[in-house]
Amino acid sequence: MNKNIAIIRGDGIGPEITEQALKVLDRIASKYGHTFVYTDVDMGGCAIDKWGEPLPPEMLDKCLTADSVLLGAVGGPKWNDVPAAMRPEKGLLKLRSGMGVYSNNRPAKIWPQLAGASPLKKSIVDKGIDFIIVRELIGGIYFGEHKTEGAEGSAVATDILKYSEEEIERIGRIGFETARKRKKRLCSVEKSNVLDSSRLWKKVMHRLAGEYGDIELSDMLVDNCAMQIVKDPSQFDVIVTENMFGDILSDEASMITGSIGMIPSSSLGATSRGLYEPIHGSAPDIAGTDTANPIGTILSAAMMLRYSFDLPKEADAVENAVGAFLDAGYRTADIMSEGMKRVGCSECGRLILEYID
Ligand code: NAD
Repeated sequence: MNKNIAIIRGDGIGPEITEQALKVLDRIASKYGHTFVYTDVDMGGCAIDKWGEPLPPEMLDKCLTADSVLLGAVGGPKWNDVPAAMRPEKGLLKLRSGMGVYSNNRPAKIWPQLAGASPLKKSIVDKGIDFIIVRELIGGIYFGEHKTEGAEGSAVATDILKYSEEEIERIGRIGFETARKRKKRLCSVEKSNVLDSSRLWKKVMHRLAGEYGDIELSDMLVDNCAMQIVKDPSQFDVIVTENMFGDILSDEASMITGSIGMIPSSSLGATSRGLYEPIHGSAPDIAGTDTANPIGTILSAAMMLRYSFDLPKEADAVENAVGAFLDAGYRTADIMSEGMKRVGCSECGRLILEYID
């Protein structure tokens, strides 16, 4: 198989963690007889420095002509004071909407080897944590109108939260289809006791439920969901929710699994071309120290193999190699515990290659 992958190394730890994922992809390519060609794309702070904007149109074009996109992370304190429309994260929003990837899927799964790293009580962790959050990614309040009016001291800021039935239906279908491949339980999360957009969300989800008779649909208010995720995460299989609620809940869900550095994500739209990235940011506090955990990025590459390239055997090989790395007692700093062997970012990548072999 020949694939062209757009690579966005980005800022902070982005280049270090992406490098490890590329080593893994190269090893998979040579072991299974594929050719992966990489196209470098500047996005984020590094693009602001080089091109004067976070995602120049020609860089977006490179992503739109690739078979998929792998991203490290963008942003950092150096660009905190640039105008809002020029911030590194704007590049990411532009990329997501340009690619039309409206569904962000984040697994919240605890690796048994890291059960001790969860901040939850053992009795809760022992019941199992294995669910997916399907988050709407290119609608809602992040993409509505934003404005601040009035003089300083009496200014009024407005952010519009808007969803159409069509937007809700297409993400709802991803939720139902995802549940169909798992334990067939879908929890729709909203705030229908307060928000009109949530009442519409709930109505559309229940209409869709008529087409998915094999899926058990439940509703939950977002504040209750935030509480249930720490009280009894074993109750969830698939959660489907809108953009901002999903942003917040998926960070909460990642934390209960131990480390933000371990979690991959995929963002997909109507085609097989996806955007794959770890869920964490550019971690400027540890950039350049070779201590970042590259596993979230490596597992994102595995998701790309599975979901965009339909290569389940190759994806399994990467995921099993990560499991073998943990089984052997190796840990990066963020998941380190007593008696384990601490390794840096590049050594972690090298060892995972050995386990692929
Ligand atoms: P962050 O995720 O970068 O870091 C939070 C904490 O987790 C830090 O202590 C960091 O050292 C640690 N951490 C994160 N990833 C790690 C890894 N792989 N291995 C070990 N430790 C890791 O969040 P933040 O500090 O709030 O944001 C830093 C910058 O990243 C900001 O500019 C923010 O806007 C940006 N950001 C980018 C993305 C993205 O590119 N998708 C996502 C979130 C935040």
